[in-house]
Amino acid sequence: MWSSVFSLVIFLVAAVLPVAVEASHSWNNFHWGRTSNPFSLKLGDNLSSTWDPYLGTTSSDWSQSSVLDTLIVAGGTTGRRCRPTSGRVEVCNAKYGNNGWLGLAQIWVSGDHIVQGVAKVNDTYFSTAKYNTPGWKNLVMCQEVAHTFGLDHQDEIFDNPNLVSCMDYTSNPLGPPSNEHPNQHDYDMLETIYAHLDSFTTVQSGTQKLPLGLAIAAAARNQDFENRSEWGRTIRDNGHVAVFERDFGGGQKLFTFVIWAEGE
Ligand SMILES: [Zn+2]
Ligand SMILES: [Zn+2]
Repeated sequence: MWSSVFSLVIFLVAAVLPVAVEASHSWNNFHWGRTSNPFSLKLGDNLSSTWDPYLGTTSSDWSQSSVLDTLIVAGGTTGRRCRPTSGRVEVCNAKYGNNGWLGLAQIWVSGDHIVQGVAKVNDTYFSTAKYNTPGWKNLVMCQEVAHTFGLDHQDEIFDNPNLVSCMDYTSNPLGPPSNEHPNQHDYDMLETIYAHLDSFTTVQSGTQKLPLGLAIAAAARNQDFENRSEWGRTIRDNGHVAVFERDFGGGQKLFTFVIWAEGE
């Protein structure tokens, strides 16, 4: 009797501790190649004006990192097409349709290195009363852009207390406490991922070309990659957030991070 009460107490204590906060949330250590820190990563703005302030907040939030500066630049594609640009990140919004996803981030990797990324927000859902809020827009923009740095989620349980990080998925972005911005653990994780330096860069600066062999083949590039059928195998999917891997061969892969729209 007493031992089972004791076990129950241990179980309850374990259940309320935010154990995930101590865990690593790098994405397999994938990272941008660069020869010095902090490195400057361009975020192409393919957003309509209602989204611009959210990208502004996301860019300044993440640029507080000691290893990373993000720079908002003119978009290299359109919101609807959202094709990647080598060496940088394209950020897009559009009504992508009732495809199930609220937000999506994709990184193309060559070996261990990220060579391009996109972050998309789906206005089909963001135009509904449920998601058309500053809380949801901040959470999703902050999280999707951060996946393109090589960050994964801190926590994927949607109804537990917020960890005060946009890398913590939640049904309640505003909390309190709010999950609209990064926290110290996210900045620490970036410092760990980017602690080493590379002998080459995969970040675009001017007309510099990617090192030979790192450029993504056209077949792995010139599609929308907007639908589940193009994302390859499921790495994990809890019905709220999911990660997929498409292997193009030759060390080239596409990873897709998804936030599903609830109830869709
Ligand atoms: Zn490296
Ligand atoms: Zn995510």
